[in-house]
Amino acid sequence: MIVCFDIGGTAIKGAYAKSPEEIETLPRVATPLTDFGAFVAALKAIIDGAPEPVTRVSISITGVIDPESRKITVANIPCLHGRQIEADLEAALGMPVLISNDADCLAMAEYGLGAGRGHRVVFGVILGTGVGGGLVVDGRLINSDGGFAGEWGHGPVSARFAGTPEVELPAFACGCGLKGCLDATVSARGMEKIHRFLCAEEKSSEEITEAWQQGEPKATRTIDVLTDITAGPLAMLINTTGATIVPVGGGLSRSAPLIAEIDRLVRERTLKKFDRPLVVPGLCTIEPGLVGAAVLGFSRRD
Ligand SMILES: [Zn+2]
Repeated sequence: MIVCFDIGGTAIKGAYAKSPEEIETLPRVATPLTDFGAFVAALKAIIDGAPEPVTRVSISITGVIDPESRKITVANIPCLHGRQIEADLEAALGMPVLISNDADCLAMAEYGLGAGRGHRVVFGVILGTGVGGGLVVDGRLINSDGGFAGEWGHGPVSARFAGTPEVELPAFACGCGLKGCLDATVSARGMEKIHRFLCAEEKSSEEITEAWQQGEPKATRTIDVLTDITAGPLAMLINTTGATIVPVGGGLSRSAPLIAEIDRLVRERTLKKFDRPLVVPGLCTIEPGLVGAAVLGFSRRD
């Protein structure tokens, strides 16, 4: 049996997995943010409660492991940030530990059990609190040993002129230190910033999406600009990777009309023409982090 965790800045979600399809999810517990000993104890309590012997721990986390130094960047959990997290947890827990980025877990979950089944090249995308991505080719996660592949959310690439008619946008500052990242511009918070800039109105991303679906003009303008900015880089990624399906997870993917609009604009911009949906809502909507961690955990043979 594998124990899977989906670790965020607020909560640790755990699950006992007999296979990727047989997952028993557990009540969530608060994430200890500053005390590594307390963090290990929280994981250990769940592992010790497993009904069968545990052979491995597989973790989905909103962070990236540097493939050379093996140190993790996870700004919202200070007691983990900068640690050689796999080695430290293996020593503390006494068993193999696999750590994967949440977008990589989404991509693997969609490849194994969701919208990516049967596709050779799957680019899983997160559009939500942040903008991320993970690439699976022939069933293999490109980031299986850590690394930054698929991180299309960072880099100063957001269009500064967007929408119909075109409007000039500021280069929004990003948490990574750069300006004009997609993460800062077309994430849920980015949508709110675009709306504030264009319409001088404070609305949550849920309210903007809902108002757009009702045809409200201000929200319609914001979504026009946001989808225009999103579609170009995503089409370029599809040209570059050869992905034939792009399952989307994260908060913004809960609006099927929004994903359908992004899909329409992306397919206008890709070199290969697809006569079927290409950018689609992910199907693993219940705990994709835990499902992806399980798929990855069971794919390890070492
Ligand atoms: Zn950035």
